[in-house]
Amino acid sequence: MSVFTHKEFDQHEQISFFHDQATGLKAIIAVHNTHLGPALGGCRMWNYESDDLALKDVLRLSRGMTYKAAVAGLPLGGGKSVIIGDAKKHKTADLMRAMGRAVETFGGRYIVAEDVGTTTEDMNYINSQTKHVVGIVGGNHGSGDPSPTTALGVFTGLKAAARHRLQRTDLKGLKVAVQGLGNVGYNLCRYLHQAGAQLIVTDMAADKVDMASREFGAMAVALNSIYDIEADIFAPCALGGILNDDTLQRVKAKVIAGAANNQLAEPRHGDMLRDMKILYAPDYVINAGGLISVYYEHVARTSNKPYDRQMVLDHVAKIDSVSESIFKRADQEGISTSLAADRIAEQRFKATKACKAA
Ligand code: NAD
Repeated sequence: MSVFTHKEFDQHEQISFFHDQATGLKAIIAVHNTHLGPALGGCRMWNYESDDLALKDVLRLSRGMTYKAAVAGLPLGGGKSVIIGDAKKHKTADLMRAMGRAVETFGGRYIVAEDVGTTTEDMNYINSQTKHVVGIVGGNHGSGDPSPTTALGVFTGLKAAARHRLQRTDLKGLKVAVQGLGNVGYNLCRYLHQAGAQLIVTDMAADKVDMASREFGAMAVALNSIYDIEADIFAPCALGGILNDDTLQRVKAKVIAGAANNQLAEPRHGDMLRDMKILYAPDYVINAGGLISVYYEHVARTSNKPYDRQMVLDHVAKIDSVSESIFKRADQEGISTSLAADRIAEQRFKATKACKAA
């Protein structure tokens, strides 16, 4: 397994491998960049087919967190961790405590949160071993599940995109196709319904689709048909890599704005979207609400003050002006919105020096 010459290495500051024989923990923590502050990012538990795939995933994800935090204007760096194993079969309280000890070795340069395969309950186990954890439930500082705040941020960015591309200041009557009705997608549907949008939805889970039809009057379509829908806006809220050579030929929406991470299969698909005059609201720009929420939990904890929900809402509201500035920069420079976002992030995090351990 190569590390320094790995395709996804991209100047990572630190990559640590952990093994705990007693609990079976096998984990990797990657810190991409701490120029703006300590690296904050979730812990994913996934049954990777190989150690190589686990390394690739953690490197790609931790780099993404650096960009997300920088564009959101947060004093945070980017990092992420992965635990190799099936969360349904191998996860135990002791394993999560062992993970907590691994996080503690970073002395605050890495702060962990929940991600796919881990829960707020797991963060509480980690918290028994280290204070460098967010997404805790309860207590004075806990912010709990970040998903509803992510949905609010996506809604904010989606409205900014509709204003810019469709010259619409409201969403009344607009058709929005939503892929994925999970923690974020379902909450996004609620905001869209309240704003008067017509919903077209799909999910593998039939019960979620039925609920959305009943609660929001959403029209249900088959999984693979969501790309072909005559909609004004497409909101991918399930998987990464879904904007690719196959799907882009089929999308009819003029705006793409959703929660899913890494929606572009490759950077060149951002250019293709620009050529097709489809406005793409970059995923990490508009799905930063959850990160913003847990950042204020970190602030509450380190200053020993209560978690301030209003500060979170004020910060999430800025996703509107941040999105608008990215759309304008892309227009002015004749580049894709994804590249414009990357350039703004890089200007911020490359300009300052690495942070010290707490
Ligand atoms: P989730 O697991 O709660 O929901 C995902 C939903 O997508 C599930 O209902 C699943 O059945 C559905 N799905 C899976 N494959 C599908 C397919 N092919 N077609 C249609 N539906 C499909 O996840 P979530 O927390 O709602 O996150 C959604 C996306 O947003 C993920 O890409 C995640 O990485 C990203 N994201 C989430 C957060 C957060 O705060 N939860 C923050 C930033 C980014």
